[in-house]
Amino acid sequence: QSSAAASGAGASAAPGWRHLYSGKVRELFVPETTAPDAAPAALLVVASDRVSAFDHVLEPGIHGKGELLTELSRWWFHQLQGVPNHLVGDDAGLPPVPAEITARSMVVKSLEMFPIECVVRGYLSGSGWKEYQASQSVCGVALPPGLHDGDRLPEPIYTPAYKAPMGEHDENITFERTVELVGLETATALRDLSLEVYRRAAAIAEARGVILADTKFEFGRDPETGEITLADEVLTSDSSRYWDAAAYDSGERTASFDKQIVRNWLAANWDQTGTPPTLPQEIVEQTVLRYRELLARLTGAA
Ligand code: ATP
Ligand code: MG
Repeated sequence: QSSAAASGAGASAAPGWRHLYSGKVRELFVPETTAPDAAPAALLVVASDRVSAFDHVLEPGIHGKGELLTELSRWWFHQLQGVPNHLVGDDAGLPPVPAEITARSMVVKSLEMFPIECVVRGYLSGSGWKEYQASQSVCGVALPPGLHDGDRLPEPIYTPAYKAPMGEHDENITFERTVELVGLETATALRDLSLEVYRRAAAIAEARGVILADTKFEFGRDPETGEITLADEVLTSDSSRYWDAAAYDSGERTASFDKQIVRNWLAANWDQTGTPPTLPQEIVEQTVLRYRELLARLTGAA
């Protein structure tokens, strides 16, 4: 991806680390000394400024986004005491992380990731709203009739998606399908943990005047302890819908602190065939301002 180099997260970004994988937003590295086929001692995850929507990486990048997402993830991992997460506390023996990228990097345990995006929705929006209109249910979870776009659900629901291999579209699936994918015990644990973390996070956000409308978690298994571990980014404005509570209460349902600005602009200016158009500068600027405001609201940082 040409934008990988442009946003400074290319293969040469970290001496001592070998580039492993480019996701849509993140670059993954393993210690250079990792033998082929051996389990790496750790992963270096570097968040770029790339923004993706509708499964496409867009141009240009959003300057500062990688750092904002990383800071917010770290903050949330810290809030969620008691939930095992992938951050490596002791980096002794690992290659150092260059100062230029520490603010958008995390050194994490290399987990066996489950191929499931663990989505929790407290409100009806996005693909959940689409599915509801067609079937009055989301991912097999039946809902009451008469709900509108943006409505609060009677209680949070777990609506998993299959994490499609690179280049394919993630697809909403039922809980039963997750049982087929990872077995009953793990599927149940993923659901219960996802709902618990959503509830805790939503309460923390609510106390700061922010609605956590929905979010997506990714979990993996710690190969050493077997423990189900919270991974990837967590509760960021890329992986979640966040709304301003005061605006929502007054009936305004467009005040979001997430990628919705980008999605809305794309939906209005692109028919979703071929290459997406370049984002206008004002959309880029609005997006970074919203991401920054969310971080400030939640963490109290200026
Ligand atoms: P894709 O991987 O399909 O490109 P993506 O666009 O969401 O999805 P990124 O978020 O850019 O990818 O890259 C992060 C990748 O790292 C994801 O595939 C995620 O599942 C994986 N990942 C995150 N944390 C860990 C971990 N602790 N161990 C192993 N893999 C991880
Ligand atoms: Mg991702």
